[in-house]
Amino acid sequence: MAIDFTFEPDVEEARVRMRAFVDEDVRPTEERLAAEGSGRGDWRGELDRLRARARELDLWMPHMPKEWGGVGLGPTALAAVSAESSKARWASYVVNCYAPDEGNMHTLLHWGTDDQKERYLAPMCEGTVRSCFAMTEPEVAGSDPTLMRTRAVPDGDEWVVNGHKWFISGARGARFAILLARTEDDPEVPQAATTAFIVDMPSAGWEIVRDVETMAGSHNHCEIRIHDLRVPDANRLGERGQGHRLGQYRLGPARLAHCMRWLGQIETALDLMVARATQRYSHGSLLSEKQGIQWLVSESAIELYQAKLMVLHAAYRIEHKLPFTTEVSMAKHHVANTLWRVVDRAVQVHGALGYSKDSPLSDMLLQARWSRFADGADEIHKWRVAEAVIAAYNEHGTTRLATGDLPL
Ligand SMILES: Cc1cc2nc3c(=O)[nH]c(=O)nc-3n(C[C@H](O)[C@H](O)[C@H](O)COP(=O)(O)OP(=O)(O)OC[C@H]3O[C@@H](n4cnc5c(N)ncnc54)[C@H](O)[C@@H]3O)c2cc1C
Repeated sequence: MAIDFTFEPDVEEARVRMRAFVDEDVRPTEERLAAEGSGRGDWRGELDRLRARARELDLWMPHMPKEWGGVGLGPTALAAVSAESSKARWASYVVNCYAPDEGNMHTLLHWGTDDQKERYLAPMCEGTVRSCFAMTEPEVAGSDPTLMRTRAVPDGDEWVVNGHKWFISGARGARFAILLARTEDDPEVPQAATTAFIVDMPSAGWEIVRDVETMAGSHNHCEIRIHDLRVPDANRLGERGQGHRLGQYRLGPARLAHCMRWLGQIETALDLMVARATQRYSHGSLLSEKQGIQWLVSESAIELYQAKLMVLHAAYRIEHKLPFTTEVSMAKHHVANTLWRVVDRAVQVHGALGYSKDSPLSDMLLQARWSRFADGADEIHKWRVAEAVIAAYNEHGTTRLATGDLPL
């Protein structure tokens, strides 16, 4: 019987180590510093201490190969370990496996020249620099990167770039950006119009206009004006016209990496929901004894179970070099919506407490909102899934191949 939902001992040990590290060190440190109040406490020193500890525990960069100093986990094992690390706010940063750097590391590993890897990937793996990924523009739909307007024009052995980007996460304080810009006027297909570049920071012509204030506050999602920025051709990442492919290569597994972290958030919300329901008394019984509340619990548990299976299976397909795009789209859509629904239900069960900042749920709800349109909006994923289902039917007379291609 080949289907086996247990991990190899070394993976299970890594998962348990991550859980213990988060429960016993990262979260208590966060809570202690939060209690001391913002602007007080040695946040930087504590982060450095936790990062050193992550290295000692062999939890540093679970997603990167061992030769780059990582744990070398495949996508399936990473799902388990990332779900654990997402249960504390800082943990992904502490183990150097957080967006957007995680996706940028994969991108550089796959597309970078040896020189680019040495100059940009190596310091990221050391944890001494941060980066950002600059694709989205305010003037055109981010959902359709073929509309991109930021333009790079060759000039000798350099490129001159002009344009406008926004929502560039982590731009302030990043040492470099992976920037997508239009370079081809008459590409064979619209997807072959853009090219990726590595932009050193600071650079003349790269102006951070502001942190965009979001419904969840300011979290270093920046608006950038690009004016006559000069980038050496040696900093072109991949070939001309491959920007879209590179973006898709980056976003496929990166989408799933988000899902892995959201699993931990969903589980946290469900734990909070049940903890509250088993303590709060109203109209003659505990909330947990009321059918209306039990349905919220059971619907959440069923959806979380589906979410875990979908993430594991999509990760399995990536790991075994099987086509994975449709499965990742289905997983991303389901997990993002489950996150939103379960956190919302947990707020409901908490009443005023859930709406207050005394509970983590209000922040979790605001963060959860973007999951349904960033990294591919719900509608785009459903459109792509429908395309795959209809194509499978037209080609094979059955939709089976487009519903996970499982032996069922
Ligand atoms: C917290 C956060 C962090 C981000 N970080 C980054 C980053 O680091 N780098 C970066 O480049 N970008 C980043 N983004 C931007 C993100 O990638 C975009 O928001 C996303 O690609 C959607 O693009 P848009 O916002 O322009 O929405 P639009 O493309 O304008 O879409 C708006 C809505 O239109 C609908 N829609 C669009 N197309 C279709 C269609 N074909 N069919 C049906 N409906 C459709 C959907 O409902 C969609 O939600 C971030 C966004 C957020 C919120």
